[in-house]
Amino acid sequence: MTKLTKELGLIRRIRTAEAGRPGAAVRGVVLGIGDDCAILRPPRGHEVLVTTDFSLEGRHFRRNWHTAESAGHRTLARGLSDLAAMGAKPLAAFLSLALPPEMLRSAAGRRWLDGFLAGLRGLAAEFAVPLAGGDTSESPSDGVLADIVLVGSAPAGKALRRSGARAGDGLYVTGWLGGAAAELAMLERGEGRLAKRGRGGKLAVPNPHPQLYPQPRIAAGLALVRRGMASAAMDLSDGLSSDLAHLCRASGVGAEIIGSALPIHPLASKAGEEDALTLALHGGEDYELLFTARTGTRMPRSLGGIPVARIGTVVAGGLLTLVDVDGRRRRLKPGGWEHFAAAK
Ligand SMILES: [Mg+2]
Repeated sequence: MTKLTKELGLIRRIRTAEAGRPGAAVRGVVLGIGDDCAILRPPRGHEVLVTTDFSLEGRHFRRNWHTAESAGHRTLARGLSDLAAMGAKPLAAFLSLALPPEMLRSAAGRRWLDGFLAGLRGLAAEFAVPLAGGDTSESPSDGVLADIVLVGSAPAGKALRRSGARAGDGLYVTGWLGGAAAELAMLERGEGRLAKRGRGGKLAVPNPHPQLYPQPRIAAGLALVRRGMASAAMDLSDGLSSDLAHLCRASGVGAEIIGSALPIHPLASKAGEEDALTLALHGGEDYELLFTARTGTRMPRSLGGIPVARIGTVVAGGLLTLVDVDGRRRRLKPGGWEHFAAAK
């Protein structure tokens, strides 16, 4: 920690209320901020899961498109979504921040930082995840660098993996697709309203700000583990076509997607049918869960309060196929598609 960041009491300010008081007992955190390490205690019979994500200004957020609150929210949401993907319950978060010197010295910069921390803390409170440590530094570059580490726990041997899908399994997603990319396009065109706060709460309806305030699907991931329903799972960060390819490669299978079965986010629907399909297939950052379940599994209509849609079937071989509304089959590639050759 540099002198300047120390003066700002950054570490003190990134503590969440529940982990903030010295000696405060937080479930899972034996010792939080204030010593050389945090001490965590996972529930008995559980394994520990760890994920780390960079959020870099200019790459993962833009200070002119994303509000400070949104940038903070998104930084934590990305890590929480990875825990959700494996059906883990959050135990603690660790935040490292590198901030440009001009930001630390200007009132506007400090306001941005306060907004960033408020956005992050708001989502942390929603999921009761304590911030148990972190580090701050002046950045040698002129952009903000945030690194979030999330630690979670899952019953031993039960965490969801990408590698368990088999031919014949049903393919499912939670929530709605394409909304985050549609909202990003609106922000780029200067049409989006820069909403200051996240929404929280209502999970059964589409999130009005899927790009600014994505909602990690922790409850759905926990429900999948509890019910033992998923054969494979992951979260959608890069876009369905890319992420499905990752899951299929890990499982050694292919998949057939029914275009008309994709749950399209209302913001994406506005773009028209063809563009909506493109956004749903290739737009990233929806942070929904993609999972598979054995044939015959009685899938509920919602998991953890979030609607679930069957979008296709796992098949043998490595090919990803999209069946469109007219019954035409296209080969789905990460970020795009191509028509099958007529001779095939
Ligand atoms: Mg992920």
